[in-house]
Amino acid sequence: MNVVVIGAGIAGLAAARTLRRAGVSVVVVEARRRVGGRIWTDNALGAPVDLGASWVHGFVPENPIVPVVEALGVDVCSFLPGRIVLRGAGGNIITEVSGWVLALFELLADRAERLIQENSDDVPVSAYVDELFEDMPIPPAIGHKLRLWTKSVFANYMAAEMDEVSLKYFDDDEEFLGEHCLFTHGGALLVERLAVGLDVRLGYVVQAVEYGPAGVRVIGERDTIYADCAIVTLPLGVLKAGAVHFDPPLPPEKRAAVERLGMGSLEKVVLRFPRQWWPDEMVLAIMSTDEAPVFPSFINLARCVDAPLLMGFLGGQRAREWTARSDGAIVERALQELRHVFGHTRVPEPTGITITRWDHDPFARGAYSFIPVGAAGEDFETLATPVVGRLFFAGEATIRRYYGTIHGAYASGLRAAGEVLTSAVGTPVVSSQ
Ligand SMILES: Cc1cc2nc3c(=O)[nH]c(=O)nc-3n(C[C@H](O)[C@H](O)[C@H](O)COP(=O)(O)OP(=O)(O)OC[C@H]3O[C@@H](n4cnc5c(N)ncnc54)[C@H](O)[C@@H]3O)c2cc1C
Repeated sequence: MNVVVIGAGIAGLAAARTLRRAGVSVVVVEARRRVGGRIWTDNALGAPVDLGASWVHGFVPENPIVPVVEALGVDVCSFLPGRIVLRGAGGNIITEVSGWVLALFELLADRAERLIQENSDDVPVSAYVDELFEDMPIPPAIGHKLRLWTKSVFANYMAAEMDEVSLKYFDDDEEFLGEHCLFTHGGALLVERLAVGLDVRLGYVVQAVEYGPAGVRVIGERDTIYADCAIVTLPLGVLKAGAVHFDPPLPPEKRAAVERLGMGSLEKVVLRFPRQWWPDEMVLAIMSTDEAPVFPSFINLARCVDAPLLMGFLGGQRAREWTARSDGAIVERALQELRHVFGHTRVPEPTGITITRWDHDPFARGAYSFIPVGAAGEDFETLATPVVGRLFFAGEATIRRYYGTIHGAYASGLRAAGEVLTSAVGTPVVSSQ
C-alpha cells in the first residue's frame, strides 16, 4: 500500500511516522520550504522564537505529545506565571487578574452546561459575560477596566471575539491538567526530529485531489502523485478558501462543517530590547487607559531564552485590524501602551521586531479553529470522517476534544494513520500504479 500525506505539520508528520513504522510506503507533500506548518521557530531576533505554537498545554504523561517531546530530546521550559498583576497608567497595580479570569471561565462553563441541559438555543459568550461580571465580587472601581481587559485577553486565548464564540460549546473540549511549557530552543526541533527518515517533498503545492475506487491522484504544480489513499491535513482556513480542488467534491456534510467552523485570528508581535527593563515576571498584564487594550499582556521570553524579548498578541478582531497596518504602526502602539504603564524613559526603542501575519499566509489562512455560534463540536468529527475509504483527514480542526492545539493535531495524525491501516486490513485496496 502507498499513502500520500498532504501537509508536513505535526498532524501529517505523526501520521506519516506511524504508517512508515507499520511498513507502509508514505510520501509527505508540503507546500512550504520547511516542515512544521504552524509550528515555526524563527531566529531573526538572535534567539529562538516560536511564531506559531509556543506552549505545550498540560505537560503530563497522558498528553500524547509529551512522551514524544521527551523521547526526541526536545527541551522545555516551565511556564509558571504565578500571580499576574494588572498594571495601569503610571504602573499602578489595578488588581491581581488570574483569579478573576479563572472565575469567569468557570462561570462561563457553568452557563454552557445549563444551555445544554435546558436544550436552549446557542448564544455567543458575550451574551452573558456582562451579567457574569456583575455576579462576581469585583470592586466597582476596577470592574470596567477588568471587563475590557478580559475581553482582549479572551480574544488572544480563543483567537476569536466573545461575540463570535459559541457559549454552548465553550467547554466542549478537554484539557490536560499540568504545567504549560515553552520550547527552550523552539518547537521547530520537535517537528524536524519527527520528520527524520520520512520522504517529505518540500515546495510541493497541492492544487487538486482526485479520488475514486481506484485510488487517489494528488496534483501539484509540476507533477502528480498516485496513491492508494491520502491523508489530508490541510488547515481549516485552506479548506474554507477552497484553495485545493477536490474531485469529486467533498461530501456536502463535510463542506457544511468546514463552512460553519471558525478559523480564528492570532498574531504575535515580538520585541527585542537592548536590555531587560521590565520586572522579572512571566506575564506583564497592562491596561494603559480606560479603553480596551490592543496589547493586554506580554510574555517575558527572557525567562526561557537568553535574550531580552517580550511577546505580545493580537487576537480576533484586533489581529484583523492591526495586521492590515504597517509593522511600524503596530510597534508604535505596543510601545505606547508599555510606556503609559512603565514610563517613557524606562522603555527604550526596540532593537528588533518580528510580527506574524498568519491570516495572510496562503498555507494557513488563520491561526486555529474555534466554534462559532451556529457550529457545533460535532462539526470537528464530521471533518475527521474518512471519505470512501480513500481520503482520511487529520489536523487540529479534526479533533473535537483537543482542537486548536499541538497535542490535538498530533493525536489526529495518529488517529488518521490508524484508520488507514484498519481500512487496508478490512478492505484490500487496489494500487493504481
Ligand atoms: C499564532 C499561533 C499560536 C499558537 N499557539 C499554540 C500554543 O501555544 N499551543 C498549542 O498547543 N497550539 C498552538 N497553536 C496551534 C497549533 O500551532 C496548531 O494546532 C498545530 O500546529 C496544527 O498542526 P496541523 O498539522 O494540524 O496543521 P499545520 O501545522 O498548519 O500543517 C498543515 C500543513 O499543510 C501545508 N499546506 C497548506 N496548504 C497546502 C497545499 N496546498 N499543498 C501542500 N501543503 C499545504 C501547510 O504548509 C502546513 O505545513 C498556535 C497556532 C498559531 C498560529
